[in-house]
Amino acid sequence: MNLTNYHAHSYYCDGKESLESYVTEAVAQGFISYGFSSHSPAPFECVWFMKKEKIAQYLTEIADLKIKYEQKIQLYASLEIDFVPNQISPQDDFIKSLNLDYTIGSIHFVDAFADGKYWEIDSTQAVFVHGLQEIFNGQIAQAGKRYFELTRQMLAEAPPTIIGHLDKFKMHNTNLALFSEQETWYKKEVLQTLEMIADLGVIVEVNTRGIYKKATFEPYPSFWILEQMQKMNIPITVNSDAHHPREISMGFEETFKNLQKIGFKKTKILMDSVWIDQKIENL
Ligand SMILES: [Zn+2]
Ligand SMILES: [Zn+2]
Repeated sequence: MNLTNYHAHSYYCDGKESLESYVTEAVAQGFISYGFSSHSPAPFECVWFMKKEKIAQYLTEIADLKIKYEQKIQLYASLEIDFVPNQISPQDDFIKSLNLDYTIGSIHFVDAFADGKYWEIDSTQAVFVHGLQEIFNGQIAQAGKRYFELTRQMLAEAPPTIIGHLDKFKMHNTNLALFSEQETWYKKEVLQTLEMIADLGVIVEVNTRGIYKKATFEPYPSFWILEQMQKMNIPITVNSDAHHPREISMGFEETFKNLQKIGFKKTKILMDSVWIDQKIENL
């Protein structure tokens, strides 16, 4: 089975190492197609965003690498773009002006603290608990509903090509055990979101980062959600969300096995700038 990955960071944002070091690693592992997705610049400050003044250099460097490696691998330029109402979305004029090969839309921020700082749900456990207490009065269901509401607002107003880590909200639940994914409110939010995704035909990534960073036991999204997606014919693509070249295919082997167990037969890959189906097989 051909290897691909479309979710990767580098030293342009919070990843490690140069773009080229990911390419040489991907070529060494036999990848046929690879996409870069640094965290997009946004109108507010965050340490892991790419600086806006770096974007031209980032795109030029990818364009040069595309040519340099065209006999060995197909390369694509993208960004992982947040959705924060009135601030940033995957379909802002600025984003559109970049002519990216595809976009990843991800929710990392849910509302804001009293001082106006956005609540980062995948920062430290302490930040998660702080936001939950201060913004949602400790009500996990309210916070979770808001997370999925923002996901649906993004889908309605500015759908990306790919939805990034659909259920990232669960990240700290592994340790904090604040809710069960089988609770009615949670299932309702997820299913409502999946219905919208199915209608729009957006690709959902199966993101392995939680597994290899040992933050979660299951990928994003969880197996029960993947089962629903399979029944609903929602297209998937498998990504590692690599922040270091050694992570480009981490978690793939077990994930492709699990996807076959769930009943998935194919995954989307980008070839000659078109998303096509690839048969899923064991690695
Ligand atoms: Zn992300
Ligand atoms: Zn990412």
